[in-house]
Amino acid sequence: MVSSHELTSLKHETQQSIYLYINGEFISAAGGATFANMNPFTNEQINLVSEGQKTDIDKAVSAARDAFEHGPWKTMKLSKRLSYIYRIADLIDEEVESIAYLEALDTGLPISQTRKMVNRASENFRFYARMVESRLVGDVYQVDDEFVNYTIHAPVGVAGLITPWNAPFMLETWKIAPALATGNTVVLKPAELSPLTANILAEIIHKADLPKGVFNVVHGRGEIAGDALVKHPDVQLISFTGETTTGSTIIKNSADTLKSCSMELGGKSPIIVFEDADFERALDACVWGIFSFNGERCTANSRLFVQESIKDKFINALKARVSNIKVGDPLDDRTEVGPLIDQGHYNKVKGYIDIAKEEGTEIISGKIPTEFSKGNFVPPTLILNAHNDMQVAKDEIFGPVLIVMSFKDEEEVISLANNTDYGLAGYVWTNDIKRGHRVAHKIDAGMLWVNAQNVRDLRTPFGGTKYSGIGREGGHYSFDFYTEHKIIHVSIADHHIQQIGKL
Ligand code: NAD
Repeated sequence: MVSSHELTSLKHETQQSIYLYINGEFISAAGGATFANMNPFTNEQINLVSEGQKTDIDKAVSAARDAFEHGPWKTMKLSKRLSYIYRIADLIDEEVESIAYLEALDTGLPISQTRKMVNRASENFRFYARMVESRLVGDVYQVDDEFVNYTIHAPVGVAGLITPWNAPFMLETWKIAPALATGNTVVLKPAELSPLTANILAEIIHKADLPKGVFNVVHGRGEIAGDALVKHPDVQLISFTGETTTGSTIIKNSADTLKSCSMELGGKSPIIVFEDADFERALDACVWGIFSFNGERCTANSRLFVQESIKDKFINALKARVSNIKVGDPLDDRTEVGPLIDQGHYNKVKGYIDIAKEEGTEIISGKIPTEFSKGNFVPPTLILNAHNDMQVAKDEIFGPVLIVMSFKDEEEVISLANNTDYGLAGYVWTNDIKRGHRVAHKIDAGMLWVNAQNVRDLRTPFGGTKYSGIGREGGHYSFDFYTEHKIIHVSIADHHIQQIGKL
């Protein structure tokens, strides 16, 4: 827990402007512009943030390129490079409470949840240090007695990383850890709505004494700073997490400079509860899966399909949970759902609830204590009597809103679950083991859980199908993206060489 003394000093610190981190220095944006960073709980300004433009991106990419080409990072002994990665993890662990506090302040996520995200962030660094040590290995191909061919992994160059506001610190580290551990240099463009913890990471990396230029942060608008990063000819890859429409724009804009892009995009994931499921566990998982992270979760189970025979009982239980969920101050340990990230997003989510009313559904909402009227609060909401073809069942709402639908049998629910543009995740609850596997195989999504909430071992691949993304990160799958596979063909005998033009 943060002590009251630490809290006062953190409050003081957060009121300071925050800067860009380029080539080992915290500096203002070249043009001197700033933007206001708002508190989702009070809608008051937290602080000002330096607003990077194309010039600042050029500067950061040039520092990262120089560090890649001429610095020691990619050529140093692996044990030394990984010792930096372990050091970053240790320094994050020392700051868990203050990072969790700043993340909750900046995003409105409940502090009990941001604390877990920060723990996961340090684990991302440790995990990738271990993975590079043990799994960044090549293959050998013996070709008769004539050749030995082998593959090596080479770092790609400057990695452009663009991240969203919904779990900022954790998602940033999820990209930075494999990018750095494999020897790349990085320019991070964090979401403009949640800039605070990216600078704590820059401070930590500064303290860990990484060579200058290896890691850089440029704050700024997506359409300006993000766009300049995407179009920069000296950036080799873009790892992006965010909305599907932004992902599509980025792919188009990166085409002229032929970048490889990894896309982690939106979702509208189904949770399917069969009549034979463990009722209480399915209920716990369903409620957590949609209302944790304020519902601003890419893998949220936002479409519930419950089998008709247990529908009424399940809905009654959901109503009871929703009315009990503690909505409140994100900095209060007891809070389960906090305010949404900003007023724009609040209006969007509220707008969807209005659309659902117009579409003839029944709306059940939890309670928001009256003293919290200044924050961007949307109460936990159930949309009952909905159909899969309604707009609220099709679009990603990205808030604490569960669309509740029912089904007759397995065949019907597979068809309903797959009738969506998205394909990020899916959850199946049944005590029939064969059916659990069968249905999971048939749901068109990148990640399925059977009788489980969203628990993810870091070794497993993460990513979606259809409009939910392109490519997989996580585990050794990240190596396919953050490294080039190079093949070295070595002749070990005098193989035949055709002769032309010889007299
Ligand atoms: P967003 O697409 O609005 O913004 C994400 C980032 O992209 C921000 O840093 C933004 O500044 C930048 N950006 C915006 N326009 C850009 C452009 N033209 N060029 C370059 N960069 C640009 O997303 P958001 O609202 O911050 O995040 C919410 C979305 O993220 C949801 O759709 C959610 O499902 C998705 N998400 C997906 C995953 C996943 O792993 N699949 C994880 C978390 C969030």
